[in-house]
Amino acid sequence: GIQARLNAISAIINYKPSHAPLNFSETKPTDVFGSNVFSDIVMKERLPKHVYKSLKKTIAFGEKLDASVADVVANAMKDWAIEKGATHFTHVFYPLTGLTAEKHDAFLVPDGDGSAIAEFSGKLLIQGEPDASSFPSGGLRATFEARGYTAWDVTSPAYILENPNGTFLCIPTVFVSWTGEALDKKTPLLRSLQALNKQAKRVLKLFGTTTTLPVTAFAGPEQEYFLIDRNFVFSRPDLLLAGRSLFGARSAKGQEFEDQYFGVIPRRVLAFMMEVDRELYKLGVPVKTRHNEVAPSQFEIAPIFEQGNLATDHNQMVMTTLRTVAKRYGMTCLLHEKPFAGINGSGKHLNYSIGNAELGSLFDPGDTPHSNAQFLVFCAATLRALHKYGALLRATVATASNDHRLGANEAPPAIMSAYVGEQLADVFEQIKKGEVKSSKQKGVMNIGVDTLPPLPMDPGDRNRTSPFAFTGNRFEFRAVGSLQSIAGSQVALNTMMAESLDYVATELEKLGKVNKTKFNEGVQQLLQKLMKEHDAIIFNGDGYGEAWHKEAKKRGLPNLKTTPEALPVLTSKEVVELFTKYGVLSEAELKSRQEIYLEQYVKTISTEANLVIRMARTSIFPAAMRYQGELAATCSNLKNIGHDIKMVALEDVTDKLRAMQAEADKLEKLMAHEGGDTLAHAKYMCDKVLPAMNKVREYADALEAVVADDLWPLPSYQEMLFIR
Ligand code: ADP
Ligand code: MG
Repeated sequence: GIQARLNAISAIINYKPSHAPLNFSETKPTDVFGSNVFSDIVMKERLPKHVYKSLKKTIAFGEKLDASVADVVANAMKDWAIEKGATHFTHVFYPLTGLTAEKHDAFLVPDGDGSAIAEFSGKLLIQGEPDASSFPSGGLRATFEARGYTAWDVTSPAYILENPNGTFLCIPTVFVSWTGEALDKKTPLLRSLQALNKQAKRVLKLFGTTTTLPVTAFAGPEQEYFLIDRNFVFSRPDLLLAGRSLFGARSAKGQEFEDQYFGVIPRRVLAFMMEVDRELYKLGVPVKTRHNEVAPSQFEIAPIFEQGNLATDHNQMVMTTLRTVAKRYGMTCLLHEKPFAGINGSGKHLNYSIGNAELGSLFDPGDTPHSNAQFLVFCAATLRALHKYGALLRATVATASNDHRLGANEAPPAIMSAYVGEQLADVFEQIKKGEVKSSKQKGVMNIGVDTLPPLPMDPGDRNRTSPFAFTGNRFEFRAVGSLQSIAGSQVALNTMMAESLDYVATELEKLGKVNKTKFNEGVQQLLQKLMKEHDAIIFNGDGYGEAWHKEAKKRGLPNLKTTPEALPVLTSKEVVELFTKYGVLSEAELKSRQEIYLEQYVKTISTEANLVIRMARTSIFPAAMRYQGELAATCSNLKNIGHDIKMVALEDVTDKLRAMQAEADKLEKLMAHEGGDTLAHAKYMCDKVLPAMNKVREYADALEAVVADDLWPLPSYQEMLFIR
């Protein structure tokens, strides 16, 4: 009971860091950066010239890896890793659970004469065979063919992970079945980047824009998280097992003072952040910003954007590092989207753009008429993509935990729309009306001839309520959950963009060989057509308001509020056609994903429901009953000495206790029955089980507000959120 809470509080008061503070003047961040990465510099240093060149080609231009160089690379990588103290290597992969998976193998091989040598061949580097039977495959792989294989993703560098007791070499890999189906998040991401490159190149060619590098997507994920003292977490089964509180009366103080956002970072947290940054620097993750977020005990870390595949791997490392380093500081990092009711949840804004090192961002208007025209085409293609496939993009952020956050007046609604800012909206409006080409007198522009009115790079009052906001040189997709891999949304974005750019290129190619004026006219007409058909997706107003829900409905924009509503989109006709056309995901792969994600939804909620029942009965019921006993005893004592009283408090506790028990019983009955196939089961969880869980909570939280504090067994919201 209270003892656990008091112990936790005294542990926090007496907390001392386990090691001396980091000294950044002895080891400069610039020296540390990338020191554990088998980076370009390391490869250049350690590989024979022709091998280095061949590998570089694969990395920069996506050419097939020359198998003959693999042995040489493996050897160099092994020597480098062993010099850094590594004993093992591991193929790191990203199964559909959204987690990071690793299987370790020792370099050590017995020599036959009782001694041993270190060995690592090209074959081992390129391909691994983890037993994959415990990873979800959604029916893609029969269990008798349990082995999937992992294959080195040359475009994401190998690195060393340090541990107090030893280090190991990590090799980023894809994870596929023996029949070639993607069992992971990385494979489709790489495929989608290829599709995007091909179609973007076609559009650029029409504009006469040349580049030697592939066109790729950039991603900059802003990661939000909560830090809670571990002692509290250990006395809260819900935080420990579900990552969120299933009970808890609101704290008397929440986030209403708005005194936390960008506030002074608590010292223990700052120490933690320094170490997180240092660890991530070593791994070559370019972390840049750190600050307090809106809710108490909520924080954010953001790296500088990188090529999408690398940014995705790096974000997984960020999440892992946050979790492991937090423990060293006596805290738990909660990545759940809604750990605490009544205060903001955590998201992961995904900043997204298309381009490459030579071109910069193709979402940057630039300052010449040529770059402006090209920008407008890329921008309009994006709006078309979002209009056509918004439901798909929404489905990529559908999880049980993110459902608590989307549309909760702190995060964008489940309706996909784009915010483009006033100026750009105005430009598109004029294009739509056909005013653009008619006259310059009206102050309007001639596409391909005039420059755009200056668009604010970072529009001061950015619309925080929009799920997809143009922010000067990129779009910010704000619906991704803090716990999620950023791969899924990028796969959708890249493929949607490929389809839209394909359409744009095909339309413009129809013009044939024409002079500049005719081409510009063609562009203008195409833009006009795109705006006529797709500008319903532009919305600059308040996305939180009820009015928008009505308006969106009028515009025919889907509003898929929950995961079971959203996930079936993955196997809709349009989505299957989209993904198969560009070779990103087959119908079987899409089906397996839908099945796995629905399964995860069901599992998450059933774990939580079981926890609710258990905690209600074994923690909350006994506490409330003890208090009831105290009240009853007092009441009877009073009666004995002649007071004829009716004790309101006693009746109140008794009522609430009965109600909670009744609701827990109802929930248990609901859990005993399950509903049909996975989709039906998911719907059942959503429509029946979740509301029943909330009912139990309602009475439990009401009890927390009346039961004597010294009897209450669970750390309270105010303790967890305000004691650091
Ligand atoms: P804010 O909180 O104002 O949105 P942050 O600095 O926290 O800004 O995060 C912005 C993110 O967007 C960073 O990761 C940044 O590197 C990234 N970013 C900036 N430009 C681009 C771009 N062209 N493409 C993709 N991401 C970008
Ligand atoms: Mg930010």
